[in-house]
Amino acid sequence: MIIVMRVNATAREIAAVVERVEGMGFHAHLSEGEERTIIGVIGDERPVDPGLFERLEGVERAVPILRPFKLASRDFHPKDSIFSINGIKIGGKGLCIMAGPCAVESRQQILEVAHAVKEAGAHVLRGGAFKPRTSPYSFQGLGLRGLELLAEAREETGLPIVTEVMAPEAVSMVAHYADILQVGARNMQNFALLQAVGQTNKPVLLKRGMMATIEELLMAAEYILSNGNSRVILCERGIRTFEKYTRNTLDINAIPAIKQLTHLPVIADPSHGTGKWDLVAPVAKACIAAGADGLIVEVHPDPQQALSDQAQQLRPEVFAKLMDDLRALAPPLGREL
Ligand code: PEP
Ligand code: MN
Repeated sequence: MIIVMRVNATAREIAAVVERVEGMGFHAHLSEGEERTIIGVIGDERPVDPGLFERLEGVERAVPILRPFKLASRDFHPKDSIFSINGIKIGGKGLCIMAGPCAVESRQQILEVAHAVKEAGAHVLRGGAFKPRTSPYSFQGLGLRGLELLAEAREETGLPIVTEVMAPEAVSMVAHYADILQVGARNMQNFALLQAVGQTNKPVLLKRGMMATIEELLMAAEYILSNGNSRVILCERGIRTFEKYTRNTLDINAIPAIKQLTHLPVIADPSHGTGKWDLVAPVAKACIAAGADGLIVEVHPDPQQALSDQAQQLRPEVFAKLMDDLRALAPPLGREL
């Protein structure tokens, strides 16, 4: 349920409502807008009569939120969430482009890509140090050494880094190095991991599970939000369908649909969404046209030699061309790059 306070509600009236909500065993989540305060009643409030709150001083109305996600919902937070990560804005008019290799493979590799994507205009450097691989015999990532190399690349380029964390026990270590914690598609419903990243002060990039519905993605985000972390970025990265020509089917519908349902920023991953490097740029542009707030794109200095996802990583020149195209595409779409 949300409790919408009157425009002129006083601090004392707001505090009294919060006290009432908490006295009933719920958590009160305050959203202070420019005009008025909205109080989210968090918990299973189904049996509660909204009239109980509507009788309190300063309350304009109390509305049950019928959707299963609350903090993620636009009903609760009508305006787009915009947050800033080391000076880089996510959400709002500006597009945020994250780029880098699938995995950190060596010092030379990560530094070379970091400089190349920075030069091309990327805002955030990606790179996996802990890789969720289908086979236990495949390259699993450099682990802690990979995180150290990412930190070195940040030092050299100034780009904030996004990297995946796979286990709740690893969250504090990864959060020590990363500027954004990535929760991968395979872990979208690892609830212990969602709770753990929800308890950090680092923004979280939450990727849609390959078999997850939009509602399941938003419920996963709700786990992070309800643990106190309001900075969640959602990512459409393709889902499994009967189509085998591409690695996944990037669900373009999901981008505007998720933006209708939630205030959280939404980005797209055309690399995993297609699995084919020569489809990445056209699909990337489609995602921006559909309203994505940014992209995460895999770039490798020599994709054929990559230790993972060879077929989908872009050579730096191809990424630079995509950035040029996006700079031309952004203004007519009302976006900035
Ligand atoms: C990745 O970003 O490298 C990755 C493993 O992505 P996903 O979790 O979407 O498969
Ligand atoms: Mn990858």
